[in-house]
Amino acid sequence: LVNVINFKGSVKDAVQILAEKQDMKIIAGGTDLLPQMNRGLVRETAIFCVEDMPELKQIKKDDKCLVLGAGLKLAELYNIQELKNHTSVLQAARSVATPQIRNQGTLGGNLLQENRCMYYNQSISWRRSIKKCFKLGGDRCYQYKNSPECVALFQSDLSPVLMSFGAQVILEGPGGRREVNLEKLYLSGGKKDVHPDEILVGIKIPLSSGVYKSAYTREALRGSFDFPVVSCAVSAKIQGNIIEDINIVFGSAGPFPKVVKEAKDMITGKTLEQLEEIMPQIKKASRKYIAPFSDTHYDSFSRRIFADELLQSALLKLK
Ligand SMILES: Cc1cc2nc3c(=O)[nH]c(=O)nc-3n(C[C@H](O)[C@H](O)[C@H](O)COP(=O)(O)OP(=O)(O)OC[C@H]3O[C@@H](n4cnc5c(N)ncnc54)[C@H](O)[C@@H]3O)c2cc1C
Ligand code: SF4
Repeated sequence: LVNVINFKGSVKDAVQILAEKQDMKIIAGGTDLLPQMNRGLVRETAIFCVEDMPELKQIKKDDKCLVLGAGLKLAELYNIQELKNHTSVLQAARSVATPQIRNQGTLGGNLLQENRCMYYNQSISWRRSIKKCFKLGGDRCYQYKNSPECVALFQSDLSPVLMSFGAQVILEGPGGRREVNLEKLYLSGGKKDVHPDEILVGIKIPLSSGVYKSAYTREALRGSFDFPVVSCAVSAKIQGNIIEDINIVFGSAGPFPKVVKEAKDMITGKTLEQLEEIMPQIKKASRKYIAPFSDTHYDSFSRRIFADELLQSALLKLK
């Protein structure tokens, strides 16, 4: 039996309750958490529902940044006027799962969803047939036999896209607020830098002057339903025809999204037309960021081929 608190008050009061009561799990839309509870993958016996907290639904904009409330539903993102120039955010939000899940799942839940693996996301009876791996408190990893930690895939669609814009997350706990670069939120072993008594309040997207173009591409078994096997987010500052700055981030590439560090030096200063000429070098530099992870449908070789194609089509969409 699970105790549920459906909280409608302020973030300040919410974090006090979370700090006082141990063993509570936050739930927003529940589209990630509830399937895990059904499979006996969640230890907590009480859940704290943040779905109706008004502060998590706010949208704020000034000259420097746009802040999106963590409690905004994925389907609500398409209609946010302030996001109309962030093409890749809209593309990513539209590509998550099904309309039902997009109507229920939230932005915050998307960024904090659990990493997935075919040896973990299984029923209790299936899991009983093998010894526990790291993610379940055991001493081994079935994906990479010699890995010292869990390497389960993080398959969020929104995270790589927001990372490509240099977004930060706003977390509030009993000790106050802190802001963390989205890139730093994801720790090794599939862990996230969020304490159990902290609430993800919002996501801050910096707004820079100049023309920004962005694109998001993904490969999935069934485009209308499934998690991405690999995805690619590109965000670039373009002046006339010259690319002045660029960020390329791969999603579902490993335990957290992977920023292609070499991309800035390789592409900055080039024209959009020159992109095709240097495409082989960009692909070569990018490929190593795709972890050799296998699931029931795809091997690591196929995932790297998808990554090449996704990168090319995302870059060509900048034209
Ligand atoms: C069939 C299916 C297909 C899916 N396909 C995709 C897909 O294609 N792409 C994709 O990205 N995702 C996919 N998902 C995962 C998930 O549904 C979405 O990512 C969704 O956005 C999660 O949001 P939620 O509000 O439902 O999260 P919840 O399930 O409520 O929460 C997820 C996690 O975030 C934490 N959390 C949520 N909000 C807060 C907060 N404000 N503060 C602190 N912690 C918080 C919860 O404690 C939990 O650990 C899929 C899920 C299913 C069931
Ligand atoms: S990646 Fe390894 S440790 Fe993590 S869930 Fe899969 S098998 Fe377990």
